[in-house]
Amino acid sequence: MENNKSFVWPQGILFALMALGGSVSLGLFVPMTFNSYNAQTKNAINIKYIEIKGGTQQRLNNIRTAMLSSWQQQAQVKGGISYSIPARFQGATISEARLAPKDKVIALTFDDGPWPNSTAQVLDILRRNNIKATFFVIGQNLKNFPNLGKRIVNEGHVIANHTWHHWYHFMNQQAAAYEIDHTSDLIFQTTGVKTNLFRPPGGIMHNGVAAYARNKKYAIIMWSADSVDYRRPSPSVLLNRVLKESRPGGIVLMHDGGGNRSHTVAALPQIISKLRQQGYRFVTIPELLELQVKDEKLIANKKEKVTSH
Ligand SMILES: [Zn+2]
Repeated sequence: MENNKSFVWPQGILFALMALGGSVSLGLFVPMTFNSYNAQTKNAINIKYIEIKGGTQQRLNNIRTAMLSSWQQQAQVKGGISYSIPARFQGATISEARLAPKDKVIALTFDDGPWPNSTAQVLDILRRNNIKATFFVIGQNLKNFPNLGKRIVNEGHVIANHTWHHWYHFMNQQAAAYEIDHTSDLIFQTTGVKTNLFRPPGGIMHNGVAAYARNKKYAIIMWSADSVDYRRPSPSVLLNRVLKESRPGGIVLMHDGGGNRSHTVAALPQIISKLRQQGYRFVTIPELLELQVKDEKLIANKKEKVTSH
């Protein structure tokens, strides 16, 4: 088994970028970590959000897209990229992380996309606020709107599996396999990501798909704060519901697709700013899970110290 599947940015593109931009501030790179499926070591790639003086935003976006597309192609050749999920969460069901009280973090998640207008609007809001989120996409929607799927990954968000059809009824193993494998295959073909995160449609755990995902060692991601945005409450009701249910380590469920999501789009900037006022920072699901493991280790170390003295 190949151990190290880290991906190096094509140097030619980097040099071309430097030549184009004149001054590249590498210090502003936001870490984006994709680990290979099997490697235990972290192979971090820290190229994201490049600031170039004198370049137009559009030009920057084009360069970034070109770089990332090239990187995705490389990743696919090398067998795909995957998110680092601690072993204990592989095949486990998680609705929130248990964190030390100092870790006031929360994960925003968006389901049922990609979807015309609303996915792009959500991405714009997240980008403006420099927030990374997790998108549980539906296979058939990704097939219809592959560029939105690419954009999700290109902008540093996590992409995850939400089945192909979003069916609720019982499925035998063959049907469940199609729902999950076919979607993950398309995510990989479209974005270069081998996702290892799954959310069952409707949160249904007993119709065959979640069981299949568990066997395949996906982390099954539920939620602790339900915006109930699919019922299209007013943006203020939506905002208040999310704020009321938010707590450190929480996972917020919203929808960027599957219907008219204008209320979600309208409420999102407020949700972000109010949570920020309360001291929250925003993480992706893999980051949230890593944090819990880190905190548990800290607590275990403290206990060890106490007992050894
Ligand atoms: Zn859904």
